[in-house]
Amino acid sequence: MSAPLCVAIVGSGPAGFYAAGALLDADTPVEVDMIERLPTPWGLVRLGVAPDHPKLKSVSRAFERIAERPGFRFLGNVEVGRDLTHADLTRLYDAVVYAVGAQTDRRLGIPGEDLSGSWSATEFVAWYNGHPDFQELPFDLNVDRAVVIGNGNVALDVARMLALTPDELAPTDTTDPAIEAIGGSPISDVVVVGRRGPAQASWTTQELKEMGELAGADVVVDPAELELDAASEAALEHDTNARRNMDVLREFAARERTGQPVTVRFLFLRSPVSLHGDEQVNAIELVRNRLEEQDGRIVAVPTDEHELLGCGLVFRSVGYHGVALPELPFDERRGTIRNEQGRVIGDEGTHVAGVYCAGWIKRGPTGIIGTNKKDAAETVERLLADVREGTLTHKAPATAEAVEALLVERGVRVVLYPGWGAIDELERVAGEKLGRPRVKLRTWDELLDAAERVAETTA
Ligand code: NAP
Repeated sequence: MSAPLCVAIVGSGPAGFYAAGALLDADTPVEVDMIERLPTPWGLVRLGVAPDHPKLKSVSRAFERIAERPGFRFLGNVEVGRDLTHADLTRLYDAVVYAVGAQTDRRLGIPGEDLSGSWSATEFVAWYNGHPDFQELPFDLNVDRAVVIGNGNVALDVARMLALTPDELAPTDTTDPAIEAIGGSPISDVVVVGRRGPAQASWTTQELKEMGELAGADVVVDPAELELDAASEAALEHDTNARRNMDVLREFAARERTGQPVTVRFLFLRSPVSLHGDEQVNAIELVRNRLEEQDGRIVAVPTDEHELLGCGLVFRSVGYHGVALPELPFDERRGTIRNEQGRVIGDEGTHVAGVYCAGWIKRGPTGIIGTNKKDAAETVERLLADVREGTLTHKAPATAEAVEALLVERGVRVVLYPGWGAIDELERVAGEKLGRPRVKLRTWDELLDAAERVAETTA
């Protein structure tokens, strides 16, 4: 039998796991090393998906099955760029698949954006989900009103999390400090602001509906906010999701308030112009927009009508953005590695042999978790086509032992899958007593200590 093809997958989120699954399904023998900078796998499934959405998180069971397959190895706490370079990877593996996601958030580029109390949604999400790099952020939720900018699903996650009651938070894996801060917060008004109209929001309908099902919050929509211009009305005919969203919003608009302690309000056709305050944000200035068709797209155009909305917190939820990786061709505007169907394309316009990408770093931060299955399958199909065509072959230095030797030489505290298993077990046992799926370990030390304790007991 021929020696297996050795493939490194960088990143252990959905795109990485789906790529691993597709590779291990191949007719040709393949060994996969999944390289992850954190001691924990699953990317945004662990650290991005809202904790009150356990069904979405249950996709991790499929990832666990992939991890159990022969030929799969998890190398956690290994950072590409710090512990291993791109050159190391291309030397030590036959192929490298980058599935690193979109690591940063888009900026608004307005005055006051960096005032205290102005946060990116990505920071808040990472904090309440227990990402070890975000636990020291000083979230102060002792304000009356929070404004969430953006009309995507992340904006809805943030608005909903802010509005959850202690009883709704209790059975989730939200971190303890976040449960305490959110559950004890006096926030009584959460305002979600979209720059375009309700028919252009990118929410999925299920997520929007949930805003109307909260135990401690009334959802408030002024019917005047839902009046559509002719172009938006016409666009609804071909857009089922937008049509369903409009139905849900109209149902919200028809509701009477029930006197819940929190209101979640939706405002449309408004863009943030600046954040006001000395050190701490105390208001947001919004400009009213009108919609215009430009090159077949409905865009927001500012009017000269401004309004000031007092608030103590602003969450900017206007999309993620990919970060360039050293030595890899990058499209700055899109925030993606330059590629064709997952084959990385160099400056000469040709495939950089043996280098591929999948997920958000390939196509941008769009779609739901499942979208990455098809996306990763496409990348793996190209990789296997390169094997069939003989442009990708196994090279002798590419072995699991060579990788291990280099990591030992560099003194990297690698977390293998059993190490993650120990973290997982500890978290689940702690959660079980409290009727929660898990209580997350939140610091690097806690995570690495838990992982290393199993290594010691099995040594
Ligand atoms: P998104 O869906 O792209 O939404 C970004 C929002 O920001 C849009 O409403 C956009 O408006 C707005 N925006 C962009 N620039 C702006 C600016 N300068 N000023 C004001 N508004 C601005 O991104 P996301 O919410 O970050 O979500 C990322 C992906 O993850 C999406 O595919 C989402 O569906 C997915 N996700 C899914 C779930 C779930 O299934 N439950 C949960 C979370 C995330 P325009 O439309 O006008 O550009």
